[in-house]
Amino acid sequence: MKASRLNEHVSIAELLRAACPAVSIEFFPPKTEEGARQIFRTAQALRPRGVAFASITYGAGGSTRERTFDYGELLQNLFGFRVLPHLTCVGHSRDDLARILDSFLGAGFPGVMALRGDPPKGERDFKPAPNGFSHASELVALARERQRACGVADFSVSVAGYPEKHPDAPDVGTDARHMAAKVAAGADFVTTQMFFDNEHYFSFVRRCRAMGVNVPILPGILPVLSLEHARKFATFGTSLPKELEERLSRHVGNPEAAQAEGVEWAFRQVRGLLDAGAPGFHLYILNRSESAIALLDRLVG
Ligand SMILES: Cc1cc2nc3c(=O)[nH]c(=O)nc-3n(C[C@H](O)[C@H](O)[C@H](O)COP(=O)(O)OP(=O)(O)OC[C@H]3O[C@@H](n4cnc5c(N)ncnc54)[C@H](O)[C@@H]3O)c2cc1C
Repeated sequence: MKASRLNEHVSIAELLRAACPAVSIEFFPPKTEEGARQIFRTAQALRPRGVAFASITYGAGGSTRERTFDYGELLQNLFGFRVLPHLTCVGHSRDDLARILDSFLGAGFPGVMALRGDPPKGERDFKPAPNGFSHASELVALARERQRACGVADFSVSVAGYPEKHPDAPDVGTDARHMAAKVAAGADFVTTQMFFDNEHYFSFVRRCRAMGVNVPILPGILPVLSLEHARKFATFGTSLPKELEERLSRHVGNPEAAQAEGVEWAFRQVRGLLDAGAPGFHLYILNRSESAIALLDRLVG
């Protein structure tokens, strides 16, 4: 049932290559009952708003990882989203990863976001699991291998891109070369880390194109909720423009006004990106619908 429903559509990668901008939204699997209610409220609220596909993150370890699959299926089967589960190499052997990919393919998911993942808290360097992988490119290659073995025609593989460089990469050129290796291994689109200044995205796209990366590069947008919120994300290697910082600092203690400022900034970013030919945008919604709805309404209004 699921597979035949999905076959009625073009693949996600094809959708991104088409002229019409695509919106994707990112969920994370909730850990509590209230979190479960929240994700369902959000899915219900965003379902009618023309979202091309959703993705759902993969946890650092433990039982949250099964929830990626479970909530991915629920979002797909109850709410009708096309869902790309994320998968990381952390703590998994090649055989584990093959089994998980087979389960994604068997469940009719239209693709996967193939990631290396981060080292466990407190550790600086990424260490592969025994018989596991060191780089996302190896997981991309395995996803293609499993797709062929399972006889699935359409399966999109996305990879992460870092407009301001991955924090561990020595320089932007080396990072772009590693990006190109993921595409050479079979990735058919890139989803970027969030950024608050479109110039970072435009330079990243130029670097990737210069390396021969010709797949769609979907920009990641986070409508921030407050100054504190923006500063928190800025610690993960996303720089905070002075102007955004100043605008948000005017609304400290007024969450509604700060949230509206975050939406306004995201709106200006998205307009600039789409005008420059971006294939759409990926919204980091943090399982909340308010900012996403406000942004999507402004874009169509
Ligand atoms: C859109 C998006 C979604 C994400 N979702 C999740 C999630 O669900 N769960 C989660 O835990 N994390 C997630 N992350 C975070 C991600 O796991 C981390 O940023 C991680 O540190 C790198 O993963 P990667 O797939 O980019 O790794 P890689 O592409 O393997 O790159 C990691 C580092 O290794 C370098 N590198 C790559 N290939 C080589 C090579 N052959 N030789 C030497 N160096 C190399 C790169 O330059 C980079 O510095 C996400 C990130 C993004 C942008």
